[in-house]
Formats: sequence, C-alpha cells, structure tokens
Amino acid sequence: MKQRIALLGSTGSIGEQTLDVVRARSDRFEIAVLTACSNWQKLARQAEEFAPDAVVIADERWYGDLREALAHLPVKVYAGTEAIEQVVRGDSADVVVNALVGYAGMMPSLAAVETGKKLALANKESLVIAGKQIIEAADRNGAAILPVDSEHSAIFQSLVGEVSPARRLILTASGGPFLHTPKERLCEVTVEQALRHPNWSMGAKITVDSSTMVNKGFEVIEAHWLFGLPAEKIDVLVHPQSVVHSMVEFADGAIKAQLGTPDMRLPIQYALTFPERPDYGGQRFDFARTPSLTFEEVDGDKFPALGIAYECLERGGTAPCTMNAANEVAVAAFLQGRIGYSDIVRLIERALEQADFLPSPTVEDYTACDREVRGMVSAML
Ligand code: NAD
Ligand code: MG
Repeated sequence: MKQRIALLGSTGSIGEQTLDVVRARSDRFEIAVLTACSNWQKLARQAEEFAPDAVVIADERWYGDLREALAHLPVKVYAGTEAIEQVVRGDSADVVVNALVGYAGMMPSLAAVETGKKLALANKESLVIAGKQIIEAADRNGAAILPVDSEHSAIFQSLVGEVSPARRLILTASGGPFLHTPKERLCEVTVEQALRHPNWSMGAKITVDSSTMVNKGFEVIEAHWLFGLPAEKIDVLVHPQSVVHSMVEFADGAIKAQLGTPDMRLPIQYALTFPERPDYGGQRFDFARTPSLTFEEVDGDKFPALGIAYECLERGGTAPCTMNAANEVAVAAFLQGRIGYSDIVRLIERALEQADFLPSPTVEDYTACDREVRGMVSAML
C-alpha cells in the first residue's frame, strides 16, 4: 500500500524537496493534500502533476484564481488557515509532512498527532512553542513524530537500535555566513549577506535564523522535546563543513553520528520510509574530497540568541513562544529593510522582558501570547 501524504507548505524549500522524493519513489508514495500560503500558480502546477484529493490556499484572496485554474480536475479546493487543520484531521492522508514556516505550523502539528497520524516534522517552531502539548498528544494517540530537521534526523538515526538512553546530544551548527565576521561588524550586515548561507539552500526565514543562531537555539528546544533530554545535556558545536549532521553520546563514552552531504532530501525520505532505507539518487559524500572535518565551540558573545534560547527552555511556559513570535516579526522587518540586523536579537530580548509570562500555558494561551507579542514587537519597530 502506498503512503498517502498531506504535504503542508508544498511550495516552499522543504515542500518542493519532498515532492522530489515523492516523484522519485512513486511506487511508495502518493500525494493526498497540498497546501500553500499565496503562490496559487505554483500550487496549481503541483496539483496538475500530483493529482491530490484536496488543495488548500491559506491566503483566501487567491481562492477564486486557484479554483478556476483547477476547474478541470477532480480536486477539492479550500481556502483559509483553518482549512489546513481540517484537511489534516480528515482521513485522506496517513502521513503529514509539516513544511510550514513559523507559528502557522503549530495547530496543524497538533491536529496531525491528535488524529494519530504519522508526523514528518520540518516545522520546528511547532515544538518550540507547544512541544509539551504536541508530544503528550502524540503519546496519547500513538502518533509517531519523525524529525525532518537534519540534526534531529541524525540523532534519531543514531538512536535506532539502542536500548540505553542517550547521555548527551551534540547538535552541529555550520556557524552560518558570519562565523568569521567580527562581532562589531554584525550591525552592518545586509539582507543579501544574511541570505547567503554557506552550505544549505533554504527558505528566507530559516536562512536568517541560521545566521543569528536563533535556528540553533530553536533546535536545542526541538531536541529537548523530541528526545526528552534536559537543556544541560544538549550541546552545540560549530562544524563548518555540515557533514556530521549531529551526534549522540552514550553512558560508556561511545559517540554515534550520522554523516552525509548537506541534502535535505535524505532526512525527508528517511522520515517517510523509516525503518527502511531505500535507494536514494543524491550525491554521495566523498572523504577524499573533504578530508578535514573540524569542530569548535560557539562564540556565545557574538551569537547571544543561542543562550537566550537555552534560557527560554529553562524557563518554559510561554517564554519560547514569546521568543518565536518576536523573532518572526523581527526577521520579517529585517527582510523588508525596516530594521538593522542586530535589532533582531535586541527585539527578542525586549519582548522577553516585557511580555506577560505564563508558567503553565494551554494551547489557547500560546495563541494569545503569539498575538500579544506580535503586536508588542510591531509597535517597537
Ligand atoms: P519556505 O519559506 O521555503 O516555505 C514555507 C511554506 O509554508 C511555503 O509553502 C509557504 O507557502 C507556506 N506558508 C508560509 N507561511 C504560511 C502561513 N502563514 N500559512 C500557511 N502556509 C504558509 O520555508 P522552508 O525553508 O521550506 O522551511 C519550512 C520549515 O522547515 C521551517 O520551519 C524551517 O525551519 C524548517 N526547516 C527547513 C529546512 C530547509 O532546508 N529549508 C531545513 C530544516 C528545517
Ligand atoms: Mg537544522
């Protein structure tokens, strides 16, 4: 039986690479649902090719155009944010690939695990904001969460077959484009420079998050929820070659790692085919061509966002939600040229100082917190 996939965010970087995987393995997968935010033309082309049961355009303004473009196909066309959640809860798919970006991914992640579906998770923000609720709902409903994020996939792969718990997780970080930029020069960074990631080609928001290390901070929180280790047992090491995707240390001192070329299609395919490893056509890693793999400590002074994320994880409650919302508004403003690069982290710090803090929030509290912090940070711009 083929796996029927609901692909959320099909027009994005992870979304398109997921479609590459599906295209290459049409014997195993078929597309049940595709969703996009506003690019209805690309969504319509994807629907022509993959013949899903349903498509959703989150931005309702494009509903008419999309419906018209797909009138000749037997596909249901929906619009709006809630429709994404509804198609996830429906029974046309058995696996949900969440490749949405930001807060928008939280409710769909919850909907997937609440209905017992396998969740292949790229949207790390879901776990940053509502990790507790998502993991508890997955446990309650017997839903598997398979990480797509390359570091977490590497840790997951290193844990397969182990019966002893991990003693320490070591997340690797490329260091981003500013690894060798002096701290005093960071305030001059332009949008173009921040969007030039040395090893990965990704969506704009995560590329900026990688350069500030907000992304690595979020990955620490993501690792905490996925693998159940406390913050002090999750370390980060800079590894500029991005070949060792992350590592796990065990009680006896053994360290296991997963290596490969930086290509997201591998963790995407693994999340879908686990525990199997079917053939994959991507480029193979060649030790002779990259003979030197190096590791160094993160400069916490230059990249304060990593420490802020650790603090948010320790504080718990709505702190990670506040950090995420402030970051989303700040990164969008930076990309629009409205604020400078260093203002991103400054706005996160101010939001954490000023926002209400709830120690034991519900999902509704996250929604309220996200709205409040967005309003607060927008007013600071
Ligand atoms: P992207 O910006 O390229 O794509 C995002 C997708 O989500 C698009 O299809 C867009 O239409 C849709 N979308 C955006 N805002 C939306 C909204 N408000 N409502 C509904 N749909 C919306 O992003 P990406 O780089 O593919 O990243 C997706 C997620 O995967 C992020 O959480 C990111 O952190 C994570 N991730 C990405 C990579 C990568 O290599 N790109 C690697 C690891 C993790
Ligand atoms: Mg990652």
